[in-house]
Amino acid sequence: MAGKMKAAVWQAPSRMTVEMVPIPEVGPKDVLIKVAVTGICGSDVHSYKLGFYVEPGQILGHEFSGTVAEIGTEVQGIEVGDAVTGFSMGVCGTCYWCQRQQYGLCPELFHMSTGYGKPGAFAEYTLIENAMLGANILKLPPEIDFEVGATVEPTVTASGAAAEVQPGDKVVVLGAGLIGNVAMQVARARGAEKVVVTEVSPLRLKMAQEMGADAVFDSSKGDALAWVKEVIGVGRYHFNEGGMADVVLEMAGAPMTVQQSFEMVRSGGTIVFVGLPEKPALIDTTKIIHKTPKIVGCLGGSFATAIDLLATGKANTKPLITHRFSLDETPAAFEMQLKSNESIKVIVKMY
Ligand SMILES: [Zn+2]
Ligand SMILES: [Zn+2]
Repeated sequence: MAGKMKAAVWQAPSRMTVEMVPIPEVGPKDVLIKVAVTGICGSDVHSYKLGFYVEPGQILGHEFSGTVAEIGTEVQGIEVGDAVTGFSMGVCGTCYWCQRQQYGLCPELFHMSTGYGKPGAFAEYTLIENAMLGANILKLPPEIDFEVGATVEPTVTASGAAAEVQPGDKVVVLGAGLIGNVAMQVARARGAEKVVVTEVSPLRLKMAQEMGADAVFDSSKGDALAWVKEVIGVGRYHFNEGGMADVVLEMAGAPMTVQQSFEMVRSGGTIVFVGLPEKPALIDTTKIIHKTPKIVGCLGGSFATAIDLLATGKANTKPLITHRFSLDETPAAFEMQLKSNESIKVIVKMY
């Protein structure tokens, strides 16, 4: 499809312009998507504010839904008009990790993917390169509308993190933005005995409670570890005691919550890190030595699982969408996403 489209282009920290740019060219293996809704991710906020992961001229946006507008000649199983979501993950194909099929670890990933290196979805159109149905492009079932469809990608990360939760576990979720809230829901769906949440935003605390957390705590107002000991139990370990959490999901990405995760986890428990701290956290490694927790970094998971969770209502993201903006208002949308006291998930709607 030749021609121009409107897109929000990142120029410099806290500066984004809405302008006309060429519509991406569709190669034989590619699919062009007419974007319906794009959500702002925590990592987009880092990019917007601090320039992390991006160069000037980048169109951000990797959480989106839309309809198929044009299909490359070699692509199978997809038709024009299909409602879809996806994420074009570009990898080099030749490095140490690509050779071992560990594509998520390819060092080129953030230079060659949707919204990272390649044009993203704060635009009228976005491209899925080397489109493979079920892998990097997925059909949305009728139960999932375009707004919820734009939350599939963060639900992938949330469910990937919560995959560490086993039936009967006691779980602490640190941070209840969209991913933290959904991870809490998925942990419950997986049979956790108790799921508790700490946050500093009153809005996010209230929503975590409404969406099914067993208990919530405003960690700006007191000692979160003491609270966890009370509601989850005391975890004794060599020379000391902490929390008794089987699994801690660190979704806040603050140096403080990173440290708390090592305090709250029980000996032999699991910590999953999802939140991206802007500054490094000081880690007391004696807690790793004495408690020997399993420490997991999580960047994603399964799209099919996320779509199933949303389609069956085991995960519900609709109430977490707090603000809707037009494409022209994308810079204002980013400013709103920065206000964690006022927003949970901010989306940009193209219709
Ligand atoms: Zn994201
Ligand atoms: Zn590679």
